[in-house]
Amino acid sequence: MADGIVGIDLGTTNSEIAVVEDGKPRVLDVDGDPILPSMVGLTEDGRLLVGKPARNQYVVAPERTVKSIKRMMGEDTTVTLGSQKYRPQEISAMILRKLKDAAEKELGRPVTKAVITVPAYFNDSQRQATREAGELAGLEVVRILNEPTAAALTYDPTPDKQERFLVYDLGGGTFDVSIVQAESGIFEVLSSHGDTKLGGDDFDELLLDHLADDFLETYGIDLRLDRTARARLLRAAENAKKALSDHAFAKVEEEFIAEKDGVPVHLSTEIDRKDFETLIAPLIDKTMDCVQKALNDARLTAAQIEKIVLVGGSTRTPMIGRLLEERLKQSPHREVHPDLCVALGAAVQGAIVAKQNVSAVLVDITPHSLGIKTLEYPDSYLTPFNEYRFAPIVRRNTPLPASRSEAFCTVSDNQDKVDIEIFQGESEDVRRNHRVGTFQIDGLSRVPAGNQLVVQLDMTLDGTLKVSAREKTTGLVKQITIDNAIARFALEERDAARERLDRLWQDPFLGDAADPSDDEDEGHDEDDEPSAEAPLETPRFRAAAAGEARSEPGQARAALEKAERLRPKATAEDQAELDRLTEVIRSAMAALDWAGVGKATTELTDVMFYLEDA
Ligand code: AMP
Repeated sequence: MADGIVGIDLGTTNSEIAVVEDGKPRVLDVDGDPILPSMVGLTEDGRLLVGKPARNQYVVAPERTVKSIKRMMGEDTTVTLGSQKYRPQEISAMILRKLKDAAEKELGRPVTKAVITVPAYFNDSQRQATREAGELAGLEVVRILNEPTAAALTYDPTPDKQERFLVYDLGGGTFDVSIVQAESGIFEVLSSHGDTKLGGDDFDELLLDHLADDFLETYGIDLRLDRTARARLLRAAENAKKALSDHAFAKVEEEFIAEKDGVPVHLSTEIDRKDFETLIAPLIDKTMDCVQKALNDARLTAAQIEKIVLVGGSTRTPMIGRLLEERLKQSPHREVHPDLCVALGAAVQGAIVAKQNVSAVLVDITPHSLGIKTLEYPDSYLTPFNEYRFAPIVRRNTPLPASRSEAFCTVSDNQDKVDIEIFQGESEDVRRNHRVGTFQIDGLSRVPAGNQLVVQLDMTLDGTLKVSAREKTTGLVKQITIDNAIARFALEERDAARERLDRLWQDPFLGDAADPSDDEDEGHDEDDEPSAEAPLETPRFRAAAAGEARSEPGQARAALEKAERLRPKATAEDQAELDRLTEVIRSAMAALDWAGVGKATTELTDVMFYLEDA
């Protein structure tokens, strides 16, 4: 590769640079880290600092440090650094120059061309300023690419069919959601909404207030009034927030954070994820309103979105994935590292411009949700207790290795043992999922119902699953290890798929399109195999299964759906033709006449080709 085009995510808080090598995109390290803080500073003796050293200096010398310059791009303004004034593009150019130098060092060749990403809502002057920043840094900017499009590209660099993505991007200081449509390799942002003053930093501030209020009530000291104590509390709040993304509780310990009557006072407390979620709920609700607005503007319903993609560090907050899934009825994709996704997509675009081969970013994920048959959730009085309710702990599409925990409660008074049954699958009813293991924890304290147990699932890259249950008050713990949890399911999935194909052969309109609630599966007991409608999620297996199957039913169904969509726009004459061919296909399918199905589908496709063009 003589001069591959690099991809750069020039972010408000952080920036990254990536490149495609041997068809695979990868992020390059800058000073040993893939993430470069987007901060620039000058030392007392006039040396330039970019990245981490500038961030470290910010607390002690904010007057010699610049952060969040992206917010000023395109404005006719300057910032002062030492005795000199700089335009926003010049500061951005320093960040870009640092990325370029690091890439040249790692790749051992000059880097002269780049794709740089910008938010979809950036106007012309903001885009122009970004281009100028690139040129000042010695880069030819071959494309200014929208960030949501970059994210979509990492999942599907060469879409061959129409595909619509909802890209939900929540970083440290900004939020945006965009609908991106891909068709024949062309990506288009259909709509975009957001809030440039909403992000994970706000979550930290809310948690800080919560901790400080508690401390004030206990010790009569307001930690917010002391600059150092506040800074320590903010860092502790951010760490606790991150821990709560994986675990049901997080400890906050800060020794000697204050002094009372000459005696040091320590902060030692625990945050419950549920309390944290209550704090941030109004902000998350705001983002969900934006999601709805973006859908409305694009004139789409949730069902017309093929993929939800999560971007930005704050999307690791589980409440976000959960609410999106609840509202849009599909689980979001979070496989590609949410902090690196945009830079990787920019590199993919660079490779496409340079006519290099490139494949999607692939990572190991859990193809199915893993969880347990519910004990009671704490505070679950809102929903009636259902003994077959599935409580997912590691959600599907989570990158591996993964470690997650949830808190549950005992349901009876004096309950001294609990059966923990572990399931894989997506149904809310465990009887429709697949049981992968079970164990009992006994010797629990004899207390009233509501005794809290923390169940933790640890899944390794090779598919080994470790499950532990811990009594919160005593620390009593019991655990089991299940080998090949994923592999075993894949085999059983294959059997389920065979069964489904067999059914498809008997009745082309049943198969995977059938309504699961019509299935006689209702009321199966727990030892049943996974239900026949269990999704075929493992991509490798999906390809194999499709290879064995006939393609006519699938193609015909797709053509029939399309015909229905196009019908309202067609003339009366064309409508009659569409109806005739639809009828021919349906009859041929019912008669299992695959040659007839194929012929009529081709005819229908031809008619639709002209209709689409009209
Ligand atoms: P970005 O601007 O995309 O780099 O995102 C940075 C934000 O992501 C900061 O507010 C971080 O605190 C937040 N963040 C990083 N990791 C996590 C995590 N595991 N859970 C929740 N927020 C996180």
